[in-house]
Amino acid sequence: MDQSNPHPAPPATGGRAVVCARCGTPAPEGPPPTWTCSVENGTRQYFCVDCARANLRAIEGRLDSSWW
Ligand SMILES: [Zn+2]
Repeated sequence: MDQSNPHPAPPATGGRAVVCARCGTPAPEGPPPTWTCSVENGTRQYFCVDCARANLRAIEGRLDSSWW
């Protein structure tokens, strides 16, 4: 038996990867529960803890992130 071990590459992150829409912090395994999701113009935007906290009022006011 001269068989090499074909170890398949690990699958990619399944397409759940997101980045903070404001500061660009990556979340390769999908948004953590602490992140905030805001739907703007039909598009989901995710914001990390720091950005969400800093902009909580704006998010609750349903303002687009472009307003920031
Ligand atoms: Zn952020």
